[in-house]
Amino acid sequence: MPFLSFARVLELRRQLEGTRAEVVCLGSDDYAASIRRWSDTCEKDAGAIVRVTTTSEVSEVVRFCRKHHIDYVVEAGGHSTTGSSSSHGGVVISMASMHKVLTDPASKTVCVQGGATWDAVNHSTVPYGLAVVGATASHIGVGGSTLGGGYGWLTGQHGLIIDQLLSVKMVISDGSIVEASEESNRDLFWAIRGAGQAFGIATEFVFRAHKVPATVFGGLMYFDVDKLPTIIEFANRFDEQQDPNSGFFFGFTTWRPAGQTVVLTMLFYNGTHSEAAAFFAPILSQPSLVNRAGMMSYSELNAMANVDPVPEGRKSIGGTNIMPPFNTSLVRELWDQFDHAMKAYPRMEDSVLVFEMLPYSKVVQVPVEETACANRGPYYNVGWVLCWHDPDLDAKMHALQRHMVSKIQEAQQGSTDEHVAAHANFAGHEISAQSLFGDNLPRLQEIKRKYDPQNVFRKWHDLVPQTRSL
Ligand SMILES: Cc1cc2nc3c(=O)[nH]c(=O)nc-3n(C[C@H](O)[C@H](O)[C@H](O)COP(=O)(O)OP(=O)(O)OC[C@H]3O[C@@H](n4cnc5c(N)ncnc54)[C@H](O)[C@@H]3O)c2cc1C
Repeated sequence: MPFLSFARVLELRRQLEGTRAEVVCLGSDDYAASIRRWSDTCEKDAGAIVRVTTTSEVSEVVRFCRKHHIDYVVEAGGHSTTGSSSSHGGVVISMASMHKVLTDPASKTVCVQGGATWDAVNHSTVPYGLAVVGATASHIGVGGSTLGGGYGWLTGQHGLIIDQLLSVKMVISDGSIVEASEESNRDLFWAIRGAGQAFGIATEFVFRAHKVPATVFGGLMYFDVDKLPTIIEFANRFDEQQDPNSGFFFGFTTWRPAGQTVVLTMLFYNGTHSEAAAFFAPILSQPSLVNRAGMMSYSELNAMANVDPVPEGRKSIGGTNIMPPFNTSLVRELWDQFDHAMKAYPRMEDSVLVFEMLPYSKVVQVPVEETACANRGPYYNVGWVLCWHDPDLDAKMHALQRHMVSKIQEAQQGSTDEHVAAHANFAGHEISAQSLFGDNLPRLQEIKRKYDPQNVFRKWHDLVPQTRSL
């Protein structure tokens, strides 16, 4: 695709005159800031960035790009690391200015614009004693995390993020504006709950919200590696209990003051301090290096997993599913490899490998064929966020990520439960659509024929690889 010409940029500007949309291009003061992403690997020279403010502006940009055969992508929170929200030479539709959130406490529903972050959602809902099941980190986009299925601290009680969705307003590939819900465009509503990025641009979400108390129990704790067996024992008990009020993440990171690899845990309990203390007693009773556990607001809890502030650097998100019980020797082997990588390569301190345990009973109550998201089963996500700085290490880092993910997958071969390879929000492009959506893929492809026959929205996970159009 050729780089967008300046003449086209001017034409696009003219077309959007009279609207509040801003067109930024090379030479604009804020061009550099507009192409920046959470990961430097995804910083690409866009032909133009259009900061849209309404659904009709989105529609107009889509129609313009369609008419002139211009490649375009959508950016919300900018946290993906595959480059799917940036473009070399094409148009980036930036949703950053569409971040309004409206909470209706009477109906317990929340209307969220397509460019908001979970921080903005919490800011609106928490004063009413409400929360939406958002991701476990609040600086990421609602757009990217919801459309891929999504899970968060309240998943044990209420299921996936998409299980809270009541309707979505979307601009599809021909530029038309559609609503998807149980009442209208039901096929599209099915598809966008798990593979939404492949169908259009979501400009508005309506979510069901739930009551949350003024404070919940949460915390971050770091331990020396000699506590790993106790932590794994707790994790296996956690799995057996399936207490919907709880959440428990454990894994590895670097404790900066000592420059040492440590075992990280994140705790969540929706209950009183004494209930939480009893639940997490085997963890809380261990001598720790860092202990920031206690009662906190839901907003604070939700910010606990933010890998922030990270002003610069290269990052890659990867993941896979892991079936309990956790095997101590596998986890120890992964620790050794993680620790080795941290020592072998410079400036990787922000990297984390986390086993994300959120009770799954509520998630599996929804049959796999009821929404496009096929990642519903008695297992947990392993999230692997690699952070480094030197561009010469890109290939090595991606190889390291693939290696550790396949180690986990190999260790589970022979497991009787069939399951998809990963949660789509944590999958890189090396995982095929078939491995992510399993038996739901043919239906997704059929619905795509109706809403995106040219396969314009293929940059997230390509649902019809090898075919340029359907
Ligand atoms: C620190 C960290 C913690 C995370 N924790 C969780 C977690 O707890 N739970 C979870 O489910 N995931 C989690 N993730 C993964 C996260 O959901 C994905 O990285 C997601 O893609 C980020 O969305 P974004 O909007 O920030 O990114 P972007 O890069 O802006 O978008 C990601 C993709 O979605 C598309 N997209 C974004 N908005 C829209 C829209 N409105 N309409 C159509 N397409 C859109 C983009 O085009 C792109 O393909 C985490 C990621 C990080 C970095």
